[in-house]
Amino acid sequence: MNKITKPKKNHIRKEIYVTAVIFAFIFLCMIFFLYHFLRYDSKDFIYNSFNARFSVFADDVVRGSIYTADGKVMAQTSKDDEGNEIRVYPDERLFSHEVGYVGKGMAGLEASYSFDLLKSHITLDDQINNSLTGIKSPGDDLYTTLDYDAQKSAFDGLGLYDGAVIALEPETGKIVAMVSKPDYDPNTIAKYWDDINDSSKNSSVLMNRATNGSYPPGSTFKIVTTLAYLREHNGDDTYSYNCNGQIDVDGYTIHCSSNEKHGKENLLQAFSNSCNSAYADIGIHLDREAFINTAEDLYFNKTLPTMLSTSKKSAFNIDSDTKESIVGQTAIGQGATSVSPLHMAMLVSAIANDGELMEPYLADKLVSAEGDIVSQTEPVSAGFIMSAEEVDTLNKYMEAVVMDGTSAKVDFGDLNVYGKTGTAEYSENKKLTHSWFVGYASNDDGKQLAIAVIMEGAGYGSKFAAPLAAKVFNAYFEE
Ligand SMILES: [Zn+2]
Repeated sequence: MNKITKPKKNHIRKEIYVTAVIFAFIFLCMIFFLYHFLRYDSKDFIYNSFNARFSVFADDVVRGSIYTADGKVMAQTSKDDEGNEIRVYPDERLFSHEVGYVGKGMAGLEASYSFDLLKSHITLDDQINNSLTGIKSPGDDLYTTLDYDAQKSAFDGLGLYDGAVIALEPETGKIVAMVSKPDYDPNTIAKYWDDINDSSKNSSVLMNRATNGSYPPGSTFKIVTTLAYLREHNGDDTYSYNCNGQIDVDGYTIHCSSNEKHGKENLLQAFSNSCNSAYADIGIHLDREAFINTAEDLYFNKTLPTMLSTSKKSAFNIDSDTKESIVGQTAIGQGATSVSPLHMAMLVSAIANDGELMEPYLADKLVSAEGDIVSQTEPVSAGFIMSAEEVDTLNKYMEAVVMDGTSAKVDFGDLNVYGKTGTAEYSENKKLTHSWFVGYASNDDGKQLAIAVIMEGAGYGSKFAAPLAAKVFNAYFEE
């Protein structure tokens, strides 16, 4: 008979001990993995400058790509001849101020979305497998709102001029094109860093003039002055002026362009002729307080409502003590006014969108390497900045500019275009002028695009900026 031997107590203790050690090991592994993955969920961790991993390239994730809305690569991670990861910008200067750069710190979308580009949303199983086999997981990709063809036409159209082009979808605030020159090639930013930052050249290459430029608006500001007039007269645009080519205000003479005598005009004609004399006359007769209020309702002297990380405040610097001669100049967009191209594009986009201003944005969505949408930007309304009646009147006036006024010779094709030119003096020598066009186009399907163009030192708005706007409209609507 077999004798059943009881296990010894020591033996039992040993089994419990081994089991406990195994569980402790598994537990530690779990904590390790948890730490390993969760640490990427902390922006503080990734952005902490004391963190040795603060780099454009992570140990475990391949930095994601940045694309236009139509899927063209703006930035991607590649490998150099020695197998090191490098960041590549296939179109070189085309997107420089939007995509930004990495290598000398970071800027643009590369900076504001660095955390997201270094985060992977492939399945956790795949991430763990990759991690165990030493393979990097692919980071999320960022899709912008930019349209490649519109961007290219704006970039090419601006050519060798300094200045900016910004085009928005009025219904949503999506930025379709944004170009600023002078520009830089993000591929070689580190190599030419000293040259780019050489203040003796004073060209502010790194500044995005579309969002942060500060320019005299010239006659594009007559949109604001018109709105102030309409508000003071309860929407009634009855006005009459006899232009003899110039007006004396408080000892200062304001001239119409080329001293042209526009003769007898109503308000619509004064607007479409861009008559400086009439608009200076309007400006000095407006209630000062109401004029300031209208400008501030349109976000002058205020932070612009936008999802972009930076933008410049526009200035409207008159008060009750300002001399009439300055008020007269300010009413025609000289004097005490300065704007960013972004602000002017927002203003005309609100007119296109029945008075409702949508906040401009550039980053549309983050998508995992497996094609799942990780996050999607929803359009945000900043509210109505003008009434339906005011929009109707401004539309009529801006249409007249294109049909019979200063832009009548510009070929806008079959599109319905509403706009205002500007020729803004920017130095004591009045021969130096910036060329402006602001406005919007729509096609028969109701698709719209708002735009602001400024070409520094180019000359007449009607000769330079308006034809460039036409090129961008055509590139956008041809698709
Ligand atoms: Zn005139």
